[in-house]
Amino acid sequence: MARFTLPRDIYFGKGTLDELKNLKGKKAIVVVGGGSMKRFGFLDKVVDNLKEAGMEVQLFEGVEPDPSVETVMKGAKAMQEFQPDWIVSIGGGSPIDAAKAMWAFYEYPDVTFEDLIVPFNFPTLRQKAKFLAIPSTSGTATEVTAFSVITDYAKGIKYPLADFNITPDVAIVDPDLAETMPAKLTAHTGMDALTHAIEAYVSTVASPFTDPLALKAIKMVMQYLPASYNGCMEAREQMHYAQCLAGMAFSNALLGIVHSMAHKTGAAFSTGHIPHGCANAIYLPYVIKFNAKDMRAAKRYEDIAWELGLDGVDALCAKIDDFNQRLSIPKTLKEFGIDEAEFKQKLSAISENAIGDACTGSNPRIPTQEEMEKLFTCIYYGTEVDF
Ligand code: FE
Repeated sequence: MARFTLPRDIYFGKGTLDELKNLKGKKAIVVVGGGSMKRFGFLDKVVDNLKEAGMEVQLFEGVEPDPSVETVMKGAKAMQEFQPDWIVSIGGGSPIDAAKAMWAFYEYPDVTFEDLIVPFNFPTLRQKAKFLAIPSTSGTATEVTAFSVITDYAKGIKYPLADFNITPDVAIVDPDLAETMPAKLTAHTGMDALTHAIEAYVSTVASPFTDPLALKAIKMVMQYLPASYNGCMEAREQMHYAQCLAGMAFSNALLGIVHSMAHKTGAAFSTGHIPHGCANAIYLPYVIKFNAKDMRAAKRYEDIAWELGLDGVDALCAKIDDFNQRLSIPKTLKEFGIDEAEFKQKLSAISENAIGDACTGSNPRIPTQEEMEKLFTCIYYGTEVDF
């Protein structure tokens, strides 16, 4: 049996933040991050609109990037005291991800993170509150997905939470918010969205329900990302929708080893963090060449190339290389600035961790330890993937 789950309502378009005025409820808690939404006036607008809807509003501010277990518990406690019937989260991926986890602990105070990390093992939510998400970046698509990532800093572990219970009830995809993104964030989040759509399309659990969403998202990213990066706000609007379509696809079709490898290398090196979308962008063409040795996967990549008017898998990879160049994304890990000795020393561990990542299971070709090490080595030096 397969399942396809999306939010009940997705409002999209400039100014759709005003839809909040029509929300039916009594009490809303607004979960938000560090301050950019406040600075640009969007937070005030959310609060005003909810009050206009007749709701009592409380804020939970200051969710950090890569939100912690402590922040989730603090938010859940605030919810238990306030007893909201709506949870409204606004911002980049982090406040929305944090609010999803807070929701579970609000409704089930006795549940533990260990219970929730078992995929698709959540208790039934919506006993106390419904969930609305408003994204401000064009990449993670957490406003429509069944996923959330919470970090336990004491243990050094990222908890990936996955369950259709945390797919939001309502998403408000208002491109006005995405206009605030700086160019580099636009590039990285845009390539994250492209990776979501391509990995969803070649996933072993892709279906006729997810394929059209993935293909449309790929075509839109290819059409609009460079202009969006260069500051064209009409293109930025289309990218905000494209990333959401990609999210609807991968929430139901899952991802692949580009994400496995990005998850396990993002914080692995002493020279600094590799932003999620940037790591995906670097790894994507190499992984396509690796996966395309599998005949079924090759056919799927050829479909994508055909849709884009390109001739085959190599042309698709060349197109992605060209995109990365135009978006000032490096071609190799060496070029990114990862130290060679540290890379060699950690190669075995990052490869093992990547194979063990939750996203590996739906990749069309499962790499052995030796293959994963070779793949990372190709990505480090920029050498050809021929195995
Ligand atoms: Fe991603």
